[in-house]
Amino acid sequence: MTTQATTFSRDLLHWYDQHSRTLPWRAKCDDDINPYKVWLAEVMLQQTTVPTVKGYYERFLARWPTVEDLAAAPLDDVLHAWQGLGYYARARNLHACAQEVVQTYNGCFPETEEGLRALKGIGDYTAAAIAAIAFGKHAVVVDGNVERIITRLYRIPSPVKSSKKQIYQYARTLTPTERSGDYAQAMMDLGSSICTPRQPSCQHCPVQSYCQAYVHGDATTYPVKMAKAEKPTRYAHMFWMVDSQGRVALQQRAHQGLLGGMTEIPSSEWTLSPAPPIFPVAAAWQFLPSQVRHTFSHFHLECTLHRAVVQEDMPYIWAHPTEFGKYALPSLIKKVARAAMSAK
Ligand code: SF4
Repeated sequence: MTTQATTFSRDLLHWYDQHSRTLPWRAKCDDDINPYKVWLAEVMLQQTTVPTVKGYYERFLARWPTVEDLAAAPLDDVLHAWQGLGYYARARNLHACAQEVVQTYNGCFPETEEGLRALKGIGDYTAAAIAAIAFGKHAVVVDGNVERIITRLYRIPSPVKSSKKQIYQYARTLTPTERSGDYAQAMMDLGSSICTPRQPSCQHCPVQSYCQAYVHGDATTYPVKMAKAEKPTRYAHMFWMVDSQGRVALQQRAHQGLLGGMTEIPSSEWTLSPAPPIFPVAAAWQFLPSQVRHTFSHFHLECTLHRAVVQEDMPYIWAHPTEFGKYALPSLIKKVARAAMSAK
């Protein structure tokens, strides 16, 4: 490690010791470190902000205090508790990973990055973060915060997507062999409170003297942006079927793929251009004028709603809207339900 890298991590850790955030998953001392808690938080934090994760983390931990408890829970309960966090594949992987840790590793998470990466839902970043934070391993942790900070420190002239290797090399040079977990968390804190995306507080930055963007006064130029690709729009027909008792037809989605294992209102295929509806059952279908638009990470979905009163002997899950809380309904389906119930 170069002298500059050593003083960089020393200065950053000195700042961290005084200014670290208090977060529910952070250990107060080394004896308090629990790999299950670190893993749970890191999986929840993938693509989700800290304020949103806090409540979910605390509820999960209160309900399933150990990895054994989570592994023994029905998948439906986990999906249900995950509602609102989005990216439901993470919840399915979380559950599968807990089962694997219990069945294959006797309830103890592997300590190496390689061992962790072999588990469901744990990629390079999460494996490095758990190895460093939970097991004190020398691991190079690179998340979006680290990428942003490094592109500014070194004024990297190309977008992050095409500079991953270079960023990793710099990150590796800067990561100390001691206190790697604290260092990783210090970088996260620096990225969330000082070196923020839009208005970095360079005046308060503990590593200002190492930063080339600070010297040039152009911090917000980095990371260099990529031209954004337009999100495509897909189209769907949603079928709100009600029986004579006012119960609504629901069904469970396949476990694989988008919203896998969640409960939905029956719909048509989601097509790339508008198509006429193919109704699931012959009935006096009524077109509802309210359209529902929902945005997923890779596309927008425009839903046209149809309503009919049908026979209850069809193979659906029949639930009164007051019972919807018992089911793992994604945000899209909640929106559709609200629109269908408010339509005249
Ligand atoms: Fe980020 Fe500014 Fe610190 Fe550079 S000086 S690392 S741009 S906050």
